[in-house]
Amino acid sequence: MSRIKRLPPEVFSRIAAGEVVERPASLLKELLENSLDAGASRIAVEAEGAGRALVRVADDGGGMDPEEVPLALERHATSKIQALEDLLSLKSFGFRGEALYAAAAVSKLSIRSSRPGAKQGWIVTAAAGKIASSGPCPAPGGTVVEVRDLFYNTPARLKFLKSDAYEKSKLVGVLEEAALANPEVQFSYKSEGRKSLHFPAADLPRRLKAVLGEELASGLVPIVVDRPQIKLKLFVSRPESMVRTREFQKWFVNRRPVDARLLQQALYKACGEHRRGGRHPACIAFLELDPASFDVNVHPGKRDIRFKDERDIFELVSSLVAGALVQAKAPAPLWRETAVAVADTVPAHYLGGRTLLAQEPVFHFDAAAAQALETAAGAPRWWTPPYRFLGQIERSYLLFEAAGGLLILDQHAAQERILYEKLVDDIARGALRSQKLMLPLPVELPASALQKVLARQERLSALGFAVTPYGKTVLHVLAAPSTFARAADLKDLVYRLMDALEDPVEAARAVQHDALALVACKAAVKAHDPLGEKEALVLIETLKDCRDGSACPHGRRALLSMTRDELARRFQRPGAVPL
Ligand code: ADP
Ligand code: MG
Repeated sequence: MSRIKRLPPEVFSRIAAGEVVERPASLLKELLENSLDAGASRIAVEAEGAGRALVRVADDGGGMDPEEVPLALERHATSKIQALEDLLSLKSFGFRGEALYAAAAVSKLSIRSSRPGAKQGWIVTAAAGKIASSGPCPAPGGTVVEVRDLFYNTPARLKFLKSDAYEKSKLVGVLEEAALANPEVQFSYKSEGRKSLHFPAADLPRRLKAVLGEELASGLVPIVVDRPQIKLKLFVSRPESMVRTREFQKWFVNRRPVDARLLQQALYKACGEHRRGGRHPACIAFLELDPASFDVNVHPGKRDIRFKDERDIFELVSSLVAGALVQAKAPAPLWRETAVAVADTVPAHYLGGRTLLAQEPVFHFDAAAAQALETAAGAPRWWTPPYRFLGQIERSYLLFEAAGGLLILDQHAAQERILYEKLVDDIARGALRSQKLMLPLPVELPASALQKVLARQERLSALGFAVTPYGKTVLHVLAAPSTFARAADLKDLVYRLMDALEDPVEAARAVQHDALALVACKAAVKAHDPLGEKEALVLIETLKDCRDGSACPHGRRALLSMTRDELARRFQRPGAVPL
């Protein structure tokens, strides 16, 4: 056993730093909060190297007196609380006095500050937590914090960071959250030396538009509640404007962005029957509560929140949202289902529907492959050609007699499965055919969401999509798998891809499945399409080739069967094993 020893300060400062400053975006969040706490009305942010090389925040807030500036870098040095009781009436974002200390421990930091109207300001520079210089400087009023070479002395942390695109999307996400919660403050953002976002001081509806984009913002209904215990401003998607992503759900309590499962559950309860086909509400909500009625002191830098009266808040949010959604059933479509012009005709390769099947059986039945598959796990042994097509019933199901019994196929589910597996193979072989759109399809997104999609560009191109940013808040889809002929499908898919970013490995699989299932579903013959014998036979023979022919990619059953034995049993034939 080793003996207990006190950790030297340079060790524990770095450990503490890891909790507060996890990545450039969490650093930016702390710096923005400091500027907001200082009462800034204009905040200018710059980032270089996706925040690794530089994060710089300049504000026009109340600043500090010269002798305070070096103090700001010390641990537990704060101007925001003095005693334990102050925590119960906390009005500021900061209170731990840890952020600057932590940032300084893992970077080269400078902080320059002056009070408005002061004759002189003060600048302190530090590296790896040690003050390198301290002296007077000009006094324009306000504070500038520059953090360079983040994690330069903690290489393990640096390695933990993700791609530039990912870190940039996080940075922009933090800025957008601050901008949403503080519409009266002007924010500007420069990334890699280029001015990239500018939110002038505005009222909340205008700020919502500026951050979310016109299209998304105009699909929201406002709910405003003003009670002594709680003030709430909530903007939620009209039923017909719900989107295929959870990305646009943000909760703020006293202007602080929080992850509140409770609030989210209240939202989903209220949205219940209004959600169709995997759509989610966009929801931007601002709660103002008595600081004593909730606790954010759960974990440094984390966004968990606990409410004292969970039930009340849950009921309030879910009943208000439910009421608003019922009222909002106004016919105002988010976007029209316009067709996208495509550069040339859909290649036959893609089975664009039953007409294609009729012209050309795209999937050729391969006897050798069939034999190989005969014994594949799950494949019924008796399921062998030749098949006799008996007909279509309900204009949805195809009946066949096979060597060993009766087969019933759900034509849509079956074809979805076939297309899905073909697409999976095409991707594996790098043979997915993509088609250039005649005109790029614009998809308007918040800047952070756009960055997220760009971080996925490789995956997108493997799926047959080509996208490029157009300005900071519009994504242009330049090419897509040829089966995505409709604008709304493409937009849906772009939205869906965003949700998958948080957990890259698992999500990658999920997205691929999701996207392919969608492609396959769109391209497949629908139930109620009449189908002839030739087409029906192509379908069943191809399904036989599938790795999992028994269900569509959504898990719905594609095939029912009744073996000869079972038939005999059901008709109580002599010699048949009784049921
Ligand atoms: P906290 O915000 O929890 O107090 P920080 O380490 O973030 O701790 O900041 C320490 C102190 O430095 C703050 O309490 C505040 O007095 C001062 N400070 C930091 N940033 C600014 C700023 N942008 N303008 C004015 N004062 C600041
Ligand atoms: Mg702070």
